[in-house]
Amino acid sequence: MSNSKPIYVTQPYLPPLEDFYPYLQQIWDNKILTNGGPFHQQLEQALCEYLGVDHLALFSNGTLALVTALQALRITGEVITTPYSFVATAHSLLWNGIKPVFVDVDPDTLNLDPAKIEAAITPHTTAIMPVHCYGNPCNVEAIQKIADNYNLRVIYDAAHAFGVKTDGGSVLRHGDLSVLSFHATKVFNTFEGGAIICPDAKTKTRIDHLKNFGFVDEVTVVAPGINGKMSEINAAFGVLQLHHIDEAIARRKHIDELYRTLLSGVRGISCLGNAGQDASNYSYFPILVEDDYPLKRDELFQKLRDQNIIARRYFYPLISDFPMYRGLPSAHRENLPVATRAAQQIMCLPIYPKLSDDDATRIVQIIAETSK
Ligand SMILES: *Cc1c(COP(=O)(O)O)cnc(C)c1O
Repeated sequence: MSNSKPIYVTQPYLPPLEDFYPYLQQIWDNKILTNGGPFHQQLEQALCEYLGVDHLALFSNGTLALVTALQALRITGEVITTPYSFVATAHSLLWNGIKPVFVDVDPDTLNLDPAKIEAAITPHTTAIMPVHCYGNPCNVEAIQKIADNYNLRVIYDAAHAFGVKTDGGSVLRHGDLSVLSFHATKVFNTFEGGAIICPDAKTKTRIDHLKNFGFVDEVTVVAPGINGKMSEINAAFGVLQLHHIDEAIARRKHIDELYRTLLSGVRGISCLGNAGQDASNYSYFPILVEDDYPLKRDELFQKLRDQNIIARRYFYPLISDFPMYRGLPSAHRENLPVATRAAQQIMCLPIYPKLSDDDATRIVQIIAETSK
């Protein structure tokens, strides 16, 4: 078994290669490689329709989109955020000279706990940056209420939340801005890529300037903008990927259900529940290895590795434990007990459209045989 091919936590979805050739031919014919070319425009429009949002600005990756989202709203001072995420969430704050203030997460969703936000607000707080972790929506109403009371902006890191719906609409319509990632490991990928969902055309125009060095026209530069543009190759690939996304998510749903059924009888392993969304994207399959499981989380992680199954401990370590953050007062573990515990118990099992039922079953068998 250990000499079988490794099974990683994810495998990027790729359409048949020959389907991509006509797109490349078009790029070769028109010689427009970037700077908001035809595929860029086509993908922006197609994504707005697919996601059910009005305005969206494509980016070369999700991290530059986060950095730019903060600049678009002129966020400064302190921003309240979660330690339980991919490190780019907090890095985008440091890149803007903003101080991250970590607030603990809710034990059921592992998303920012609204009940703990208010105590972290200071006169320097200007915004909240929550994450819809694993694509499970944050408590958007409670967060918006706090933001309204204290006149704060809300920027969602929605890197995991492609296609997620709550109350009949896209989860991306919440907050002042939401940021997507189309990195290879995400549900919808353009190799590298990202986007900002914005509420109005004016905001999108400002964001479009910021991602193009601050250029407004040939001779006018209005801000120290970055180069965050998505290339035509990535955009064309995105247009093609969008034709396959529903089928890819349907297959993920099947694996999610299979895992849940098979794991339901395994003592000491619990699965994260639905956070109230109408449509999920099944981007991750997180399990918690509880105290009554016979192995420690890292022992189970290693046991799977020995069988060539490469699960991942998202999110361990916490962002607040990395050297550039751990000196912050809010990074202390006593301030973050729920996130600290989750980081010790969490493990994400492989889930992707091409994962076979047999492999998913075998993974659960390895987990289950230990618990007997
Ligand atoms: C993937 C990810 C990002 C970064 O996106 P890139 O496109 O890789 O730059 C940011 N935040 C979260 C939560 C992510 O998972």
